[in-house]
Amino acid sequence: MAIVERKLFGGTCVNTGCTPTKTMVASAYAARMAQRAAEFGVSIGGPVSVDMRRVKARKDSILEQSRTGLETWLKQMQNCTVYKGHARFESPRQVSVGAESMTADRIFINVGGRAVVPPLPGLDQVPYLTNSSMMDVDFLPPRLIVVGGSYVGLEFGQMFQRFGSEVSIIEMGPRLVHREDEDVSEAIQGILNNERLNIRLNAKCIAFSKRKEEIIVRTECAEGPAEISGTHVLLAVGRRPNTDDLGLDRAGVEVDNRGYIVVDDQLQTNVPGIWALGDCNGRGAFTHTSYNDSEIVSANLLDNDPRRVSDRIPAYALYIDPPLGRAGLTENEVRKTGRSALVGKRPMTRVSRAIEKGETQGFMKIIVDAHSREILGAAILGVGGDEAIHCILDVMHAKAPYTVIQRAVHIHPTVSELIPTILGELQPLRAV
Ligand SMILES: Cc1cc2nc3c(=O)[nH]c(=O)nc-3n(C[C@H](O)[C@H](O)[C@H](O)COP(=O)(O)OP(=O)(O)OC[C@H]3O[C@@H](n4cnc5c(N)ncnc54)[C@H](O)[C@@H]3O)c2cc1C
Repeated sequence: MAIVERKLFGGTCVNTGCTPTKTMVASAYAARMAQRAAEFGVSIGGPVSVDMRRVKARKDSILEQSRTGLETWLKQMQNCTVYKGHARFESPRQVSVGAESMTADRIFINVGGRAVVPPLPGLDQVPYLTNSSMMDVDFLPPRLIVVGGSYVGLEFGQMFQRFGSEVSIIEMGPRLVHREDEDVSEAIQGILNNERLNIRLNAKCIAFSKRKEEIIVRTECAEGPAEISGTHVLLAVGRRPNTDDLGLDRAGVEVDNRGYIVVDDQLQTNVPGIWALGDCNGRGAFTHTSYNDSEIVSANLLDNDPRRVSDRIPAYALYIDPPLGRAGLTENEVRKTGRSALVGKRPMTRVSRAIEKGETQGFMKIIVDAHSREILGAAILGVGGDEAIHCILDVMHAKAPYTVIQRAVHIHPTVSELIPTILGELQPLRAV
């Protein structure tokens, strides 16, 4: 067996994605709680300041442990040769890495993705950051403009505002995280407004220019001034698969019009003997979906267990603070299916645990099928939402009716203890 890595072991999640961002979110949370200390009766005894070099050093030390651990493990694995370099297909059975060439009966493509850099006017005239180059930032950008009001942009935006930058978020669409329901977008915007982030929606015509040391982003927003100035720009407008430099045409592997490798429900490509896993197949954009892809492929190949991608329930979290935990369909998606459904909702202001912790922003929402009584989807935007969502996700996975969890006795005081209560107060989901 051979494994080829062109850059950093651990890929996006370990080096420029989940791990570093969540360590930085933790630093930002510490800063926020220090600023709020007096509310909890705690005296700090002076102004709160953030040392960005130490924030970065903490992040680097955590991700380096993870990267080195993975690299050492792979290099010590029996019957596995690790190649450092860029892999390219030469034919359906042949891959080259630099001057080396190797053949195999089974080839697994797991090349991930990178930040999209769209051809926006003037972008070539100004310096900009992406999620990768943000990892080298060991200073406080005085005025940070984040282009893109979705998952990556919001996590970075809130954390840098908490570190002390003045952050503006520019979003082309009419609301933040437009894949979520309107009430979720609205509550998230409220959370960020409470921390004084400057949010511009409907920025239909984004263009960049320089004015002395400043970067100007023209927005033509429906409201507010038509341009925003800043010292630094972070582009967070989506990801694209790393499939354009792989020689896929020489192997005959089919990609779709956005470059994602086309796979079946068991992750086989159109070429027998070649599978595609992780972000590059367009069937998920998360570490847990990428990991689950590897479980599906190995179960099929090694254990004669026909696991499939369609067995998986969509689930993810957005790690702003408080976080959003999501499982299954949104309310909008349920409406589009036309089925009759019930919905339960509760603000975090009515959750004891949230009140005790002084973190009452957000709400919980659960939608169930009125006939089968199976849970269709849920959103928990609030303290502990990234964890509490799993008690719903597991019941969905078990295909059990919601009444099973409604009768469960949860621990007091927790966020999860209100989930049975919400399920006892369901109302018909109305058409809009
Ligand atoms: C800022 C940010 C935050 C994120 N936070 C989360 C989160 O909290 N939770 C979550 O679940 N997901 C998160 N994600 C998404 C997550 O990082 C990805 O879904 C996950 O890393 C995908 O794993 P993968 O194995 O498909 O690809 P990757 O992790 O991208 O790995 C692909 C590897 O292939 C290598 N490679 C590419 N082309 C070649 C080639 N031709 N030859 C040799 N090697 C090659 C790359 O160098 C890379 O190491 C985040 C992403 C970003 C950008």
